[in-house]
Amino acid sequence: MKIPSHERIFIGGRWQEATGGAPTEIISPYTEEVIAHVPTASADDIDAAVQAARSAFDDGPWPRLSHAERIAAMESLTAVYSQHLDDMADLITAEMGSPASFSRLGQAAGAASIMALTTQAAKKFPWVQRRAGVMGEVHVRRQPVGVVGIIIPWNVPQNLLMPKLIPALIAGCTVVIKPAPETPLDALWVAEMIEQIGLPEGVVSVVPGGRDTGEALVRHPGVDKIAFTGSSATGRHIASLCGEQLKRYSLELGGKSAAIVLDDAHISKTVNGLKMAGLMNNGQACVAQTRILVSETKHDEFVDALAEMMAGLTIGDPADMATDIGPLVSRRQQQRVQDYIRIGTEEGAKLVLGGADAPVDRGWFVRPTLFADATNDMTIAREEIFGPVLTVLKYTDERDAIRIANDSDYGLAGSVWTKDVAHGLEISGQVRTGTYGINMYMLDISTPFGGFKQSGIGREFGEEGLAEYTELQSVVCAGKLPELADQ
Ligand code: NAD
Repeated sequence: MKIPSHERIFIGGRWQEATGGAPTEIISPYTEEVIAHVPTASADDIDAAVQAARSAFDDGPWPRLSHAERIAAMESLTAVYSQHLDDMADLITAEMGSPASFSRLGQAAGAASIMALTTQAAKKFPWVQRRAGVMGEVHVRRQPVGVVGIIIPWNVPQNLLMPKLIPALIAGCTVVIKPAPETPLDALWVAEMIEQIGLPEGVVSVVPGGRDTGEALVRHPGVDKIAFTGSSATGRHIASLCGEQLKRYSLELGGKSAAIVLDDAHISKTVNGLKMAGLMNNGQACVAQTRILVSETKHDEFVDALAEMMAGLTIGDPADMATDIGPLVSRRQQQRVQDYIRIGTEEGAKLVLGGADAPVDRGWFVRPTLFADATNDMTIAREEIFGPVLTVLKYTDERDAIRIANDSDYGLAGSVWTKDVAHGLEISGQVRTGTYGINMYMLDISTPFGGFKQSGIGREFGEEGLAEYTELQSVVCAGKLPELADQ
């Protein structure tokens, strides 16, 4: 496919020159060659985008349309988007190295499903309610939160954009999107689709750039809410900046999820499930099940089975549908993951498979790596690695397994693998994570997703995901309220 470069950025519906200096190079993680350029937005560009969003929110037609009208506009966007799913997936693969087999399902098609599910949820959402109050009937309304700044990372960029953009727009907000510097092309393509459906001026801007551009958006007093996905370190910093202005924020952050393998689990099915649950997207997934907890009794047998699965993974061109593991997003990420592998060995974990050397000369690949005999205080068990690295830890009994699963700063996801599903459900209730899987791990994009502890604040998807873009207003009345009109 042809990879588009961009000369301009999208400010409030108009394509404009950026003033942020040198353009950002998009480098193929597979060939290490520059495949495109995009302009870098400056703090002035952010200011222009926020001002456009502010006027569109304060004085423009968008927040004053009915929910049904905004839902219809998002259905039009979904229809346009859905015509380009494979091309969008391929573009993301070119930008960040996600294997096509994952991209085709998990990148663009997933994003389109999120768009459709959000519009469906919005049709049933209680935008206005009547409640019996202490002084009579109360009119409870969900107003839009205002101007929303969206900041996302590169790993599943469209899947992270859509659960913010679509509910924010349906609620009546106006938005400024700051994509990751590694993956601005897919976001700029969405800007073109937005132009095609014709939203009012100022409602959406796409301003590519890095940390400074993002921070200018967070600090801007014209922004009412920041919707962020990224690392816990950045999330903590953003929350503190928002706190200074009492700006609203929702944060979807990192994870270090534990898969508890009970002794009655079917070994080959579990290992096969962990291939996806632990290594999807080259291991660059916030929900990856990377701490594998196995009993002392089953440890060796399970490690052998995992090693066999990982030794059989096909490493190669991410555009090839047969590839299991493609390159990581950047040289920096490759080196970071290789450093973790070195640290794992230095701290005394047993390297069963893989290693810190690159498997090929060209492309930012990391060997699929398996550690065993690790303990939960080791760096590789505590920190998010974000690469194709799994770590097996031993537990003595089930209570010990639950203790280890919970002994983490993170609380994003987890899973239990057992023939006894009812027992698996009991275990899920004892683990402090926002989502959980029994004999699988996959997030369900129709139900609340988010983190406990350092994994975030707030929820995406479904009703709860819509609520994140609203402010509640309660209206009391001295007399009788008029009948509730259709929304
Ligand atoms: P990151 O935090 O470094 O960057 C994320 C985004 O924030 C990028 O767009 C970046 O330019 C921007 N940014 C960086 N510093 C900023 C600042 N000071 N102010 C404003 N914006 C700033 O994250 P990353 O390493 O690119 O992404 C990987 C992380 O994202 C992992 O920790 C992963 O777990 C997390 N993640 C979480 C979820 C989730 O839903 N919980 C999903 C995917 C990824």
